[in-house]
Amino acid sequence: MNLLYKSTRNAERTVTASEAVLKGLAEDGGLFVPVEIPKLDVSLDELKEMSYQETAYAVMKRFLTDYTEEELKSCISRAYDDKFDTEVIAPLVKVADTFHLELFHGQTIAFKDMALSILPHLLTTAAKKNHVEKEIVILTATSGDTGKAALAGFADVPGTRIIVFYPKGGVSRVQELQMVTQKGDNTAVVAIHGNFDNAQSGVKAMFEDKELERELSGAGFQFSSANSINIGRLVPQIVYYVYAYAKLLKYGEIEQGEEINVTVPTGNFGNILAGYYAKQMGVPIARLVCASNENKVLFDFFQTGTYDKNREFVLTSSPSMDILISSNLERLIYAIAGGDAKKNRELMENLKKNGVYEISLEMKEKLSDFYGGYATEEETARMIGETYKSTGYVMDPHTAVAAWVSRAYREKNGDDKKMLVVSTASPYKFSRSVMTALDAFGGKASGTDGGTALASSAGKAGEAVADGGVDEFSLVDALEKASGVEVPNAVKEIRGAKILHARECDAGRMEETVKEILGMK
Ligand SMILES: *Cc1c(COP(=O)(O)O)cnc(C)c1O
Repeated sequence: MNLLYKSTRNAERTVTASEAVLKGLAEDGGLFVPVEIPKLDVSLDELKEMSYQETAYAVMKRFLTDYTEEELKSCISRAYDDKFDTEVIAPLVKVADTFHLELFHGQTIAFKDMALSILPHLLTTAAKKNHVEKEIVILTATSGDTGKAALAGFADVPGTRIIVFYPKGGVSRVQELQMVTQKGDNTAVVAIHGNFDNAQSGVKAMFEDKELERELSGAGFQFSSANSINIGRLVPQIVYYVYAYAKLLKYGEIEQGEEINVTVPTGNFGNILAGYYAKQMGVPIARLVCASNENKVLFDFFQTGTYDKNREFVLTSSPSMDILISSNLERLIYAIAGGDAKKNRELMENLKKNGVYEISLEMKEKLSDFYGGYATEEETARMIGETYKSTGYVMDPHTAVAAWVSRAYREKNGDDKKMLVVSTASPYKFSRSVMTALDAFGGKASGTDGGTALASSAGKAGEAVADGGVDEFSLVDALEKASGVEVPNAVKEIRGAKILHARECDAGRMEETVKEILGMK
């Protein structure tokens, strides 16, 4: 039986999975959701023995039902190969009393690789299945990590172009260098004068613009999205929750049927939503703890039932979570509205017009699977430093936000279920913030030569400032010394690499810029 998808803003029309992957966003501005969340049709006992690739097939076949077995398996084997630096793809590491699910072993060392190494294959397969002749233009807004992962995934993929917009000054230096040194004739990178929300809104506006669609079509192009609004991003992210649970079972860390809690460092709400879907598929997850940084719009939402983006945008040491409009929350809102597309549309229109919406009490009651928490900049740095001091394990600031919140959750609620912390980036991607934290809270152990001086120049938005006085790569070297973990290839290869993309534009001129890049004007 085919699982169909519909828009969160229009219950009438349905599309197949491959059509949803191709389009990215529904024509009415809504997000595609499956008409129901399928259950796993293999037992956890069977899953226990499966490789990552086998698990991926067992999960994804339930969602992407119009892909043939051969198509899906081919996408999976091309995605999860030696681009990852470990055969297990997503290793579990025990740090004190918490399990870290490390999702940063792909080619761009952030969790976005988990989905973006397969999305290009899902998308080009979908194009073939649906007889698309036009060149597909992937438009992507990035808060830092999606951009590079999408560029790496789509570089030189025939029949595609990729254009990435990132907020100038709003990403770490390593993130920026990773993007602007990207090779591939079909790639373009643009720094916008604005923040991530400006970039994301600009991209969404282009998707919804019918006139632009006609012009593009005339020139032989059609848009698609590599952002987590694309269901082709979300479905591969469900896999690692299933995999992690099955492996905890296999290694005897939990018992058959034992419920665990999961904490996810959250920005656009894509990762944690995938965890929610995994729960609905049948994985024994009790609570999904949503961890925010100082841009704590989600924390406030879970507290009050009011989503209000009218607030100061804070640049933090976890830039991939510096987001005030979490697009994927719309899929949850739609679900707790009982699949009422009209209700959801009203709320989203309110968000667009007034920057705020409030859900009903009845809807709020359906949020009990979630718990919201946040960590301040100081708490994040403390978590990095103190964990290092007591265990020698170094985590990145995004993961540290989650680790802090997971600890606070347990202390506050006395909930001692096993805790899985989703670990989303390599500390090397954020060497400056990490070294600052080790220096301030990591004790003697971080005592690399000149550690103190190195880190002192980074202010609150230290990561975002291109050069805080100390060369980024001295910090990388210091981090290698402190952590004993070898510098990953992803960082080695940008060292001294040529800058290939220097384009910038105002947030209001994204459409013109796209046309320029595509040679339409
Ligand atoms: C994207 C990202 C996040 C946030 O994930 P969402 O799916 O947007 O909630 C957290 N940490 C890192 C390192 C990321 O790249």
